[in-house]
Amino acid sequence: MAEACDLLLTNATVLTMDDRFTIHPNSAVAVAGDSLVAVGPDAVTRPARETLDCRGRVVMPGLVNAHTHAAMALVRGLADDLRLDVWLMGYMMPVEREFVSPDFVRLGTRLGCAEMIRSGITCFADMYYFEETVAEATAEAGMRALCAQTILRCPTGLLLCVI
Ligand SMILES: [Zn+2]
Repeated sequence: MAEACDLLLTNATVLTMDDRFTIHPNSAVAVAGDSLVAVGPDAVTRPARETLDCRGRVVMPGLVNAHTHAAMALVRGLADDLRLDVWLMGYMMPVEREFVSPDFVRLGTRLGCAEMIRSGITCFADMYYFEETVAEATAEAGMRALCAQTILRCPTGLLLCVI
């Protein structure tokens, strides 16, 4: 008999990332600690400490958002439907110069992470200011990220780096 797992997701349509991108209808995923220990038919009969019925749901690997500025969730809607240069130079950069700080970035990244988690995203590639704070907030949210510090040819008030 298979070893008991901590959590068994049952009755799900399970999407995999194996060589054939196998889809297991009405199947299961077994979790022990922070690891998947069985997926698909091998998981269906696993004894579990907790079972979650996922009937009508899809269980799949987390999505990756390859382009984020997570902390900018705080300025969403501030200026929309503008040309990029007008939006960036005329609105975003002046606002960022005035308000962006490690606290702003921490709060905005937390909001961005909450929205991404709700959308099935588990990993993202971010570029903004104070990326060490982005990394901390991301780790606190239980997500993964590739964090890249902004480098500009003009002074931003946040970082001056001439390339
Ligand atoms: Zn961008």
